[in-house]
Amino acid sequence: MKPQITYDTFVEDPFIDFEPNDATKGAESVLEWAYDTYGDSMIYACSFGAEGIVLIDMISKIKKDATVVFLDTGLHFPQTYELIDKVKKKYPGLRIQMKKPDLTVDEQAEKYGSALWKRQPDQCCYLRKIKPLEDTLSGAVSWLSGLRREQSPSRSKTNFVNKDDRFHSIKICPLIYWTWDDVWDYIKENNLDYNELHDHGYPSIGCFPCTQAVSAGGDSREGRWVGLQKTECGLHTVEKGGH
Ligand code: SF4
Repeated sequence: MKPQITYDTFVEDPFIDFEPNDATKGAESVLEWAYDTYGDSMIYACSFGAEGIVLIDMISKIKKDATVVFLDTGLHFPQTYELIDKVKKKYPGLRIQMKKPDLTVDEQAEKYGSALWKRQPDQCCYLRKIKPLEDTLSGAVSWLSGLRREQSPSRSKTNFVNKDDRFHSIKICPLIYWTWDDVWDYIKENNLDYNELHDHGYPSIGCFPCTQAVSAGGDSREGRWVGLQKTECGLHTVEKGGH
């Protein structure tokens, strides 16, 4: 294995001068480097959105037994769970883990009141997503994410390899140069299963209480946390809000 870059030794993205000119816009090279460098310890935190199934397909060609973690809040759409079942069958070697929060949805309602997502979505996201990922990444040196630069202004400066202050680790994002069209071209060309909600106006799919369909041509994340001052669950920001 190659020498590992860790949170404490990170200086800059080793791909800083890399100008990808291949069909995957550098994603394949970055994934090969990532698994060559971090091996079995690499964790892919997958939401099973469109980018997620692209990355899973690419990862399966590089590391058949890679670890994939889904943050199972207990509040996802049935279509999302159906997709995960299909992916598990298609890639039997992958170690797909369903990481659940400490509290069930009912236990959370008993402790914090019902529909916490309506009153304090940051706290709900902390309990059901961020804390479980903190637990998952505890002791891990690096993790993979499907962030793309064009998704939102807050993601526009994401590099292939990033120092992640939120989880004190290295966050690797192979798809930074991909457009939404690139994602769908790959899905169609490789005949991949995808969440059928994408065909019904849901470009970005999270928990059902916080996800709505968007108008044609709308921002890809416009349907998330509609009516709230919130655009991210907090996995990709450094603030430790909500708890
Ligand atoms: Fe809670 Fe909504 Fe965050 Fe899901 S997306 S954890 S329901 S606030």
